[in-house]
This record gives sequence, structure tokens and C-alpha cells, in this order.
Amino acid sequence: MNILVINAGSSSLKYQLLNPQTGSLLAKGLCERIGIDGKFTYKPQVEGKAALEAVDVAMPTHSEAIQAVLDALVDGKNGVIGSMKEIDAVGHRVVHGGEKFAKSVLITDEVMAAIEECNPLAPLHNPANIIGIKACQALMPGTPMVAVFDTAFHQTMPPQAYMYALPYEYYAQDKVRRYGFHGTSHKYVASRAAAMLGRPIEELKLISCHLGNGSSVTAVDGGRSVDTSMGFTPLAGVPMGTRSGDLDAGILQYLMNKHGLNIDEMLGVLNKKSGVQGVSGVSSDFRDLETAFKGGNERAGLAVDMFNYGVKKLIGAYAAAMGGVDAVIFTAGVGENSASQRLAIASGLEFMGIKMDETANNVRGKETVISAADSKVKVLLIPTNEELMIAMDTASIVSGK
Ligand code: ADP
Repeated sequence: MNILVINAGSSSLKYQLLNPQTGSLLAKGLCERIGIDGKFTYKPQVEGKAALEAVDVAMPTHSEAIQAVLDALVDGKNGVIGSMKEIDAVGHRVVHGGEKFAKSVLITDEVMAAIEECNPLAPLHNPANIIGIKACQALMPGTPMVAVFDTAFHQTMPPQAYMYALPYEYYAQDKVRRYGFHGTSHKYVASRAAAMLGRPIEELKLISCHLGNGSSVTAVDGGRSVDTSMGFTPLAGVPMGTRSGDLDAGILQYLMNKHGLNIDEMLGVLNKKSGVQGVSGVSSDFRDLETAFKGGNERAGLAVDMFNYGVKKLIGAYAAAMGGVDAVIFTAGVGENSASQRLAIASGLEFMGIKMDETANNVRGKETVISAADSKVKVLLIPTNEELMIAMDTASIVSGK
């Protein structure tokens, strides 16, 4: 079975063709500058097939972008499948499913309408996801399409975790609550953790740390998300590349008055100029910060310390929320690659049974136990694979399993 996974943004579209049963990737790539000048990248993962790197392809709309993907996949010379019939279904990443979607779903007209109703909750992302779905439907009539939501996994959170302490009508009427994001990633690594530990997920209390450019930490109790650090939007939680993470809302009024900023300008600062970039003044990329700190830049060190401290505090908080923890998982760019940050985050947590193995921790990008043999709480490095999770969900929905 082959599943095409599509992640459509407003001017870009990432894709992968993979087999969810074997986990094997046939091809991946991206379309960039859709609606501008159109750049197409295609990376076949099959021996002897040639890649295309940012070649010019006219893409006035997402339709031409998806057509370019399909043409490349079935191309007589460098394609990886014989015809479009070999694409059994398409899995679409959709950022926001609101409270309507607690699971991935087969896309119907009713589902499309319900996704559109979630647009106000993710005005930058959902409309682009919808355009991608519609373009695909037009080019691949008859191929089942599935929507996989970033928020769905977190719909199991109890009200005490998802409510904000605001007047209740803001929840009831305006749907203001914690939704959480990165759900596909947290769900994937939690299921891999259960497999690595050889225990049913229903028995496990896990803390999943997705630490990348955007970061979130999730408490997974018995396979269900029970709390997560991102909130109504992906701005909340730990400091990120350029996002502030949690802060006192009183700061907004103070700074807006003092500097004459309007709310859009203020939110621009919080989303694009804050986080480790804002604190360090150096970069949003943790590799640059490490280099800058080694070169004597104290603020780069402070930014990384603030990030690590934020994650450490959440591990403590979520262990308390669940009444224990069996394993802590590190994933995404920083979580998979930065041995020093994993160590910094885990250090000082020995009191709760976390003991790292520094040699085992000196690894990147592969499923590994990085805690000491006698660590009560296991610490796991698990590379995330959101596309595979989307393909697996899509396959199980279209095959009715
Ligand atoms: P996104 O949230 O955009 O999907 P990723 O999960 O790919 O992000 O993570 C990207 C981030 O991972 C980069 O900004 C970089 O800071 C970090 N990263 C990647 N490799 C390393 C490394 N070797 N050491 C520290 N950080 C790294």
C-alpha cells in the first residue's frame, strides 16, 4: 500500500510517498514559492533514480504544484511508481481540528465544512491545508483522502488541563481553550516508546519532549495526552526559536503603551523576534547558539539555559500531573541531536529517578535508551516521523481497521 502524505502551507507544499506497512519511503520533496515563481524539489529514495533540486516549475496555484508531484512520481525515467493507481490514498496534515476532531477522518463534504469552521482558530494554516486538499481532490478523483490533525491527539486532555481561568463564556462561546499541537509527533513517539520498552502503552506514563524550532512537551498517560505545553496557539509553553513561550499577559499592556505598539505588532514580536533568538540576539538555531556560547557569548548561553530550564520544569510538572513517569522521550531537531541539551535538561532530576548514561547519550538521530541501566525512569531518544504517522493513520482509516 502506498500513501501520499501532503503538508500544504500557503506558499509551499511538502510531500512524501511511503508504504505504512513496511515504513519504507519511496520519494519525498517539496514545492516552494507557489503563487510566485515555483521551485520544485523531488528526492526519489529508490536506487538509480535522479533527484530534482529546486528546479523552476510554474506553480501559479497549489494545483500545478500537486500536478508536478504526481508527474514526478509516475515519470517513466525517474518516477517510483508505474501509475497514479498505485497511490492508494492521500493523507493530509491539517493543523487545527478544534474540538470537532479527536481522530483522523476520511474527508467528506461534511468534514471539509467542519475543517473550514476551524479556520478562525488557525488563520495562517488551516486555509492553506484546505486549498491543498481541494487541489488534490480535483486531480485525484476517486482516491480516498484522510485529514490528520495536529490537535487531535490532545483532545483527550481533561478540562482542568485545557481550560484557561478566564470568564467561562470565552470557552463556551469563543472556544478559547488549550488545544495543543505537534499531536502527530507526540502520538508517534509515544507508540514507539511502548514498543521500545516492550510494554503496552495503556500501562505507561510518558513525557514526550518535542524540541525543535517549535517545541512542546506532552504528558501521555495510558496512551492518551493528558496535558501539553502549547495552548490556544503554538505560541505557548517553553521559549522556542523565535517564539516567547509562556509569559505574563501584563507585559503586553506595559510594552504596548511604552513603545506605542498595536496588538499585531506586539504579537509579531512574540512570534518572530522572541524566544532564544530574542534573548541571544544571535540566532534561532540552537547550533549557532552553542557555537556562539563557546566563543564567549553569554546571552547565547542564557537563551539555551532558559530553554533547557523550561523543559526541565515541565518534566517535573507532568510527572506530578500523572502521579509518576515511566519514561521521558526526546525528539525533533534539538531532542534528537543535542546530547548536551538532553543532559542539561535531565540533570538534577535524579531525585525523581532519572539517571542518564552519558556514553549512551552521545548519539544522534536513532532510537536509543539514553538513561543508565539502573535509572528508574527510562530516558529515550526517538526520532519523530510525522509523515509515517499520517500514512499509518490514513492506511488504517481507508482499510477500515
Ligand atoms: P521544526 O520545528 O522546524 O520542524 P526541527 O524539529 O527540524 O524544527 O528542529 C530544528 C532545530 O533543531 C534547528 O533550529 C536547530 O536549532 C536544532 N538542531 C538541529 N541539529 C542540532 C544539533 N546538532 N544540535 C543542536 N540543535 C540542533
